[in-house]
Amino acid sequence: MKDKNIRRGGVGTVNEGLQEYAHRLRVMGQLSSAEYAELIRFRDGELLQLLCSYTEQIRKSRPDPSIMWVGTIDLTSYCKNNCYYCGMRRDNRFAERYRMSTEEVVACCLEGLEHGISCFLLQGGEDLWYTPDVVADMIWRICSLSEDVTVLLSLGEKSRAVYQKWRDAGATGYILCHQTANDSFYRKLHPAQMSLLRRKQCLWELKELGYLVGSGFMIGTPYQRVAELADEFAFLRQLAPDIMMVDTFLAANGTPFEQERNGMPDLTYLILSLLRLSFPDIYLPVSQTVELTDREGVLRGVQAGADMVLADLTPEPLRRKYHCFKGRLMRGQTGAGKLEKYRRSLQEAYYEIADIHRRIGQR
Ligand code: SF4
Repeated sequence: MKDKNIRRGGVGTVNEGLQEYAHRLRVMGQLSSAEYAELIRFRDGELLQLLCSYTEQIRKSRPDPSIMWVGTIDLTSYCKNNCYYCGMRRDNRFAERYRMSTEEVVACCLEGLEHGISCFLLQGGEDLWYTPDVVADMIWRICSLSEDVTVLLSLGEKSRAVYQKWRDAGATGYILCHQTANDSFYRKLHPAQMSLLRRKQCLWELKELGYLVGSGFMIGTPYQRVAELADEFAFLRQLAPDIMMVDTFLAANGTPFEQERNGMPDLTYLILSLLRLSFPDIYLPVSQTVELTDREGVLRGVQAGADMVLADLTPEPLRRKYHCFKGRLMRGQTGAGKLEKYRRSLQEAYYEIADIHRRIGQR
């Protein structure tokens, strides 16, 4: 069957063949790339509903079926790299830049602890202002706040020695999205100075150092075809990360892709459900970008199989600077002041939300 660009959509009806793939995925946890591609290409609301019913069975069968909180802190909007899709890219003269001090980051974590969140993801661009020692001290300070605290990092490609230093300082996990496992597609999204090989090496090093490793990819980027998306499942099976992060592509001002259309949230939900069925035990966050395009995005992501909600603890004026997407987007509901409201909306849909240390220590 002829491949097509997924950005043009791919609506069909659930037929017996797709139902058979979905059922086999539920039972066996695996399909061929061609079969994943069929599910993606001919997705529709009924298929998504069927997949969600299967992911719900998985969630309910767990010893702890609750959804976990992770507090995110967007440390810096500076970056030395120039990824074509990213608003924080070095050459984006429209980007508003900021850096948070260690004291400011610790204050965010304290606010998270007050709301029952003890797992913190420090994320940001590859900003050389944060030396290995500065970050190590920050990790140590956060870990000293409580014995239940877990620190996850997402600060890009570093040397093995730096990863080791941060692990020694107390970091538990590291998220480094590979974006695509396909080299020629990677080169359409990144400048020549960046290398998929190097990124994969970093991921293997992180695994060797005993980190809880996260990786993932973007959905709906320019040039992405169904085949590339379907092939991600084979790479993820090989890498076997602990956390899988998928993001909906959103066009950012001042980037080479600023005129492109945004990715479709429905495709993100479908991919979340396929990931959950393929990898029942992984941590699967619902990304903050989903919430920017769909007011019900977090709930729909959870219904699709996500088990981790990212609560943005970055102070409001800085959070606005971190995201520089174009067009009219929903504002996130995950600021510290709105966490209770957020908890209620999930509870109204019969999901219990809990702190991550209940489960993360079991791995
Ligand atoms: S995607 Fe990451 S590495 Fe690339 S420009 Fe953005 S912040 Fe920098």
